Amino acid sequence: MDDNLFQTFQLEGSSLRGRILRMGTSIHDILDRHGYPDGVSVLTGQAAVLALLLSSMLKYDGIFTLQTSGDGPVSMLVSDITRRGVVRACATYDPTRLRDGDQDLTSLMGTGHLAFTVDQGEDMERYQGIVSLTGGSLQDSVQHYFTQSEQIATGIRIAVGRDADGQWRAGGIMLQRLPEEGGINNPGEGEEDDWRRTMILLQSCKDEELLDANLTQNDLLFRLFHEEGVRVYEPTPVEEGCRCSQERAERIIATMSDEDRYDMTVDDRITVTCEFCSREYIFDETDTEGRIQAS
Ligand SMILES: [Zn+2]
Repeated sequence: MDDNLFQTFQLEGSSLRGRILRMGTSIHDILDRHGYPDGVSVLTGQAAVLALLLSSMLKYDGIFTLQTSGDGPVSMLVSDITRRGVVRACATYDPTRLRDGDQDLTSLMGTGHLAFTVDQGEDMERYQGIVSLTGGSLQDSVQHYFTQSEQIATGIRIAVGRDADGQWRAGGIMLQRLPEEGGINNPGEGEEDDWRRTMILLQSCKDEELLDANLTQNDLLFRLFHEEGVRVYEPTPVEEGCRCSQERAERIIATMSDEDRYDMTVDDRITVTCEFCSREYIFDETDTEGRIQAS
């Protein structure tokens, strides 16, 4: 599992729960395959990291999806996670509107929102959280979601970047205070102090530390929280992977209008390209008999 992993931990002093995520080859493969401009790659990586962190809070048996939409050059980000921790992510952007060096959320995405859903199949409830894009980053937006929704008090720190060899890496830490006797809205004084102190420690974590392949997750946790005492649990693997298939591509073609199918036909063939993994599914006229026709 090398450094593509998730690990739950507990701070002994303050009984706060946390999760740490490290991504090496998994995030590199996703971002390198897309070949987006760096600013778009970083946003796409951040969406994947946040989706993984948020999905780890929930017990679910389907697909967790984090999606943003905005009116800036990057109109959409999507990342989804299976129950087993298989992640994929992609962006939709207009290259003509991107300016070199644009890095912050507002110049890249404009105004918009971030939403997350859990799809557990047809009969199951879809849980949805939604928040405006605020602050300078996706991380701020998610942080804002937890603040305004008065759910579990949550602190998040994430980073996405390239290492010295140009390989993409990503990491994140999420800390949560579980509601106890006093309840979330009425924590004791000691708990508040613990929370504030721990948030300061969390925010002191540097991007380089989250991204450093030579710093293990346990060493990083110890460096940040040694005064609290850290108990770590077994790590679980994180993998990148796509769920597209010939069947899904066929279904997409089946739902298109005859006119759209006609427009997409080149040399008697329709090519459906997966936006997540760029795999191409090619259908010739015999595959879609009676479907490819002039309107
Ligand atoms: Zn795919």
